[in-house]
Formats: sequence, C-alpha cells, structure tokens
Amino acid sequence: MTADGDSAPTTTLADAANLEFTADEMHAMSDAVASRIIDHIARLSEQPAAGVVATDAFCRGLRESAPETGVSLDPLLADLFDQYVPRSFNTAGPGYFAYIPAGGLFPAALADFISNGVNRFTGIWLAAPALVQLEANVLDWFRDWMGFPPSTRGLLTTGSSMATFNAIVCARERHLGADIRHGVVYASSQAHHCVQKSARLAGIQRDRIRSIPVDAEFRMRTGELSSRIAADRAMGLRPFLVVSSAGTTNTGAVDPLDAVADICASDGLWHHVDGAYGAFFHMCEELRPLLAGLSRADSLALDPHKGLFLPYGTGALLVREGAELQRVHAETADYMPGMPDADAFYDPSQHGPDLSRGFPGLRVWLCVKMYGARRLRTAILEKRTLALEAAERIGRLPGIAIAAPPQLSLFAFHLARAGATLADENAATRAMLDRVVARQRVMVSGCQVDGRFLIRVCVLSFRTRRDAIDRLVDDVRQEAEASSLLAV
Ligand SMILES: *Cc1c(COP(=O)(O)O)cnc(C)c1O
Repeated sequence: MTADGDSAPTTTLADAANLEFTADEMHAMSDAVASRIIDHIARLSEQPAAGVVATDAFCRGLRESAPETGVSLDPLLADLFDQYVPRSFNTAGPGYFAYIPAGGLFPAALADFISNGVNRFTGIWLAAPALVQLEANVLDWFRDWMGFPPSTRGLLTTGSSMATFNAIVCARERHLGADIRHGVVYASSQAHHCVQKSARLAGIQRDRIRSIPVDAEFRMRTGELSSRIAADRAMGLRPFLVVSSAGTTNTGAVDPLDAVADICASDGLWHHVDGAYGAFFHMCEELRPLLAGLSRADSLALDPHKGLFLPYGTGALLVREGAELQRVHAETADYMPGMPDADAFYDPSQHGPDLSRGFPGLRVWLCVKMYGARRLRTAILEKRTLALEAAERIGRLPGIAIAAPPQLSLFAFHLARAGATLADENAATRAMLDRVVARQRVMVSGCQVDGRFLIRVCVLSFRTRRDAIDRLVDDVRQEAEASSLLAV
C-alpha cells in the first residue's frame, strides 16, 4: 500500500524497478512507430520543403525539467511527428537541394532498430565477431569502390569531420612525431571548415594552415601550392599535409587530385582527399575520370550519409597504409579481452578513438545487401544526370548566369544584368533565394565566393526525381522574372 491512499495499486520495489515491457506492449509500440514513419515518408513530397524554423518561442516553451513519472508513447509520438519534426528543413524530401542532401534510405532505419534492439558491443572484434565482420566487409567494399589497395584499413565515423580529424592525426604521426609546432597544412580557400577544426583538434594551430587560392572553376591552383610549400620549407617549417577536395560544399569543385598527388609524392607530404560530398561518384565507372587521382590519396574521407543516401551519422575514413591508422589508435588495458591478429581480423576500437559505440556498419551493410551495388550506382548516376539537366535549363533562363557548372551534381548561379553592380546583383540574388525558398516546394541554399553571392543547387537526395527538377526550374524561372534587377 502506498502511504497516501488505498486507490493506488500495490507496487513492490521489484515491480517499480522493472524497466522491461511485455511482448504485447513492444509489438504495439513498434507498430505505432512504424506506421508514423511510413505515413511520414508517404507525405514527404507534400510537406513544405524548408519547414518553419523561426520557432524560438515554441522551443522556449519546450524546456522542462526531467519528468518524475513517465507517460505513454502515443502522445509523445503525436508531439514528435505533428509538432517537432515539421518545424525543420525537410532534408529527407525530394525538393531538398540545399547544402548536401542525401535522403536517408529506409533500410538504414531498420538497421538502427535492430542494432539498438540487440545492443551488441561492436567496439572489439571478440565481443561480436560476426557482426564486426559485417562492418569490416563494408569498409572493404568502400576500399574497392574507391580503388584503394589491399593495405587499406578504415573506420566508420559519425561523419567526414571526424574522418578528417583522424586522417590529420595519422599524417601528423607519420611526418611530425613530437615536433608538431613546425608542421604546416595546405588546403584550398574553398576547403570545408572541418579542416581547420580538425587541424586544431590535432594540435595544429591556425597560423600553420595555408589557404591556397583557386582558379576560375574554384579548383586549387597547384602552382600556388608548390610555391607555398617551398616558401614554408625555406622558412624552416615542415610542410606535411595537403587536403584536397573531391567536390567542395560551395560549388562542387573537384581539385586536380592527380596533380596534388604528384606534388605530395615528390615533396613527401601526406595527401588527404575530402570526398565527403563527392567520393561515392567514384562507384560509377563512367564518372571516375571526373575524380582522377582520388585512388592515389594517402587517406580519404567519405560520407555514406551524403553520396550513399544513408541517414545522418554515417561517415567513413580510408587510410592507404592501414597500419598507420592502427598505430595511432592501438591502445589497450589489462581489463580488456585479447585483441585479434590485426592482419586477420578487424577491431574498430584499434582503428578509431571510440571504445563503446553504436553499430554504424549495420546501416550500410543492410542497405548495400538489400539494394545491391548496381542499383545504388544507378541512383548516383541519375542524380548527376538530373543535375546536368537542371543546370542546363536554369542556365537558359534570361538573367541567370551559371557561375559554377556541375562537375559532379552541384551547380551554382546568380542573377546578372549588363551594367549592374556586383552589390546589386548580390542583393537581387539573395532576395531571389529567399523567394524561391518561401514557395516551399524546393529548398536551395546560398554561399558567398570571392564577394559574389551564389544560389547553389545540389542534387543528391535519392528521392529527387525529374518532377522535383521541374518544380525547381519553374520556381527559379518565376522568381527570376519577378526580380526587380531584371525589371529595371
Ligand atoms: C559535409 C562535408 C564535410 C563535413 O562532413 P560531416 O559529415 O558533416 O562531418 C566536409 N567536407 C565536405 C566537402 C562536405 O560536404
């Protein structure tokens, strides 16, 4: 009996401490979640592309202290799906062209359900050998698709930012040892800001990171790279790492990877390729020439949550001399079970910073097994074809100038009028971006490159098909026609 009345049911301590649900309850909850998700996916194309995210007051209203007593699932699902999810960019929808989209393949959601449901420990091979082998298979598939050699080992990370961090540590260990302060890193002015961030995490200060200028197509100028390396050497510094981009986030530019690889080979530097956006185009044989030289990198960051359409939280790193990745992370303790022979079996915690971790390998494994590589390649090829088509159609519109034609599946453009100032064109382009997004049928984003504001379109969601391209071109055409810049 409880102290305050006889209406409350008798609860023993053992009952109160029981956190397990009954089988019937679990079935009911799983069914409720599944139907919410399936209904959500079915309505993705009708949902606003950008969502309403100006919700400060709403979010303030959500703040609460931890509830002392629990509630049932249904009202929580209702809040999540009806109130919280809609107040967001519709990153999973077909009209999402902003930043770098992907979509989020459904089997990956099932894989997360399974891996969280069985909750096995995959940090060490010994604790779940067959499951860890699936993750090792995934890394081998990536190695093969990227044309890396058998010596390669890899790591699944939360994203390319963490992959880049681990790559920089490998490069630093190989080339600098304890003398970190003299080491210098090179990346183009268009490189992703995760390079700065990762370098700092790896102990490289900002004054040792060189920003190399780009050409008219936003690719690293390799002549400038060579002379900068020589100048730093002459000053007694130790150039040790070049990060090049296999598809920049701003305009999709692919640096001259082969030329950078040559420079790194002859100057004795580590070449890391940031393939967060672009690497998976290398799966398609017909597109490999666009990424020539990628396979020669010392390390490669690639994001399955972009180019392989997986949900957020899946990045990967490949290191050509895999033993170097292992040397950086090989550490153990006397309470740990024995480590496998690194040549025979793969041990995630011996190749990355995490010990306890989720099981990111299952998401990728289940998707590749269920779709097969050919269907995934076909989808990647289709995204590029759609991007070329969209760029061609938008480029033909009056008053539009394509600043960066698609190299992979991303292009950027702005409004232009003979005699207008850069400031006028920037203001008009910005205003047009806002109006296109306000129509809520497609979402695009902008960037500023060398003082020029650009609208960028990245076609990479597996849900983007030709009808979404039609909506994009239509909305851009109507808002270009409505622009005061062109009306003058
Ligand atoms: C997205 C992106 C990154 C960062 O990767 P995360 O997975 O978001 O950590 C790095 N470089 C490029 C080119 C990107 O597009």
